[in-house]
Amino acid sequence: MLTFENVSKVYKGGTYAVKNLSFAFEKGEFIVFIGPSGCGKTTTMKMINRLIDPTEGVISIDGKDASSQDAVKLRRDIGYVIQQIGLFPHMTIQENVTLVPKLMNWPKEKRRERAKELLELVDMGEEYLARYPNELSGGQQQRIGVLRALAANPPLILMDEPFGALDPITRDTLQDEFKRLQQRLNKTIVFVTHDMDEALKLADRMVILRDGELVQLGTPDEILASP
Ligand code: ADP
Ligand code: ADP
Repeated sequence: MLTFENVSKVYKGGTYAVKNLSFAFEKGEFIVFIGPSGCGKTTTMKMINRLIDPTEGVISIDGKDASSQDAVKLRRDIGYVIQQIGLFPHMTIQENVTLVPKLMNWPKEKRRERAKELLELVDMGEEYLARYPNELSGGQQQRIGVLRALAANPPLILMDEPFGALDPITRDTLQDEFKRLQQRLNKTIVFVTHDMDEALKLADRMVILRDGELVQLGTPDEILASP
């Protein structure tokens, strides 16, 4: 589903943000990249959705070289969730959650049905559809940010510290909820965090990065068992 072959990224000025990364992940895997600030997590994410291109190496999604595809089209098949959710304050929850379906010209009735279905996934009723983001709690807003990434049913979802801004209790709840949802929907997730507890809780397999290099790759049990 997602492979890197000897991928490196050198920024102008010579910083090696990512060095010779290689791995292969299967469809439906929950993959977590973990490491301290500056280790190359954001650079890795940006290369997957082609906001930037690698200096060397090949990234393939579903067996196809990402660099040979149209970046805009490729991004339509990738959901993206970040820490600063960025819901549009003047749009209702329904409009926020179905932004991508709207860009794809889904008819209005289908968008409404999809919005209802999405809210049900996180046990929020249809009474929320007509509300505005500032009428929701932080945790509910972040749920909407996650649902927005799922709206057009992309096979791959990228998540960059999506729960980082939440209080510990809400964060814990959303982690549990999201892990169950991912298993049910069988989505491939690439998740980055600097929080080891979060990584161990969510990952099927995790990649430990340091200074742009892969230090370890394995299941949480394998990581915990290693010296
Ligand atoms: P985070 O740890 O959340 O990734 P960073 O401070 O590493 O935050 O980066 C924030 C943003 O600034 C990223 O989009 C990154 O690409 C950019 N950035 C980081 N370092 C530099 C730099 N030395 N020069 C230019 N942009 C940078
Ligand atoms: P992380 O997300 O793990 O914090 P980043 O991928 O943002 O790490 O950054 C990796 C390294 O690349 C850091 O040393 C950072 O300063 C550098 N970097 C990131 N973005 C840029 C940029 N646009 N220009 C120059 N250096 C950058």
